[in-house]
Amino acid sequence: MNKIEHIGIAVRDMAAATDIYERLLNTKVYKTESVASEYVNTVFMQTGPNKIELLEATSPDSPIAKFIEKRGEGIHHIAFDVTDIRAEMARLKAEGFTLLNEEPKKGADNKLVCFVHPKGVNGVLIELCQEIG
Ligand code: ZN
Repeated sequence: MNKIEHIGIAVRDMAAATDIYERLLNTKVYKTESVASEYVNTVFMQTGPNKIELLEATSPDSPIAKFIEKRGEGIHHIAFDVTDIRAEMARLKAEGFTLLNEEPKKGADNKLVCFVHPKGVNGVLIELCQEIG
């Protein structure tokens, strides 16, 4: 795995959270995107080399809605940049980690993504992401 690509934060109210993080980081949103398959709205901000992804549920069935219901707002996942997502998925599987999707899927911000179940990772949801070139 390469560097941390971004940190995902689950929020209840995207407009309010965007305002908070823009003021915190002294920057503006550079990308807004809905991922219909995940029932989620996303907003990306960057400060220096660091990216923050805010995630808001668009349906009660959204994984983000379920996460907030269970654990409240807060850090939802850590995403690592990978060069070859399929190779990394195979490696993690062989190491005994549980992948939440068997095939890479199209995520936000022009990425192929795969999630690793938090159960085997001390409660932290991990996202692998490969830039679609
Ligand atoms: Zn993410």
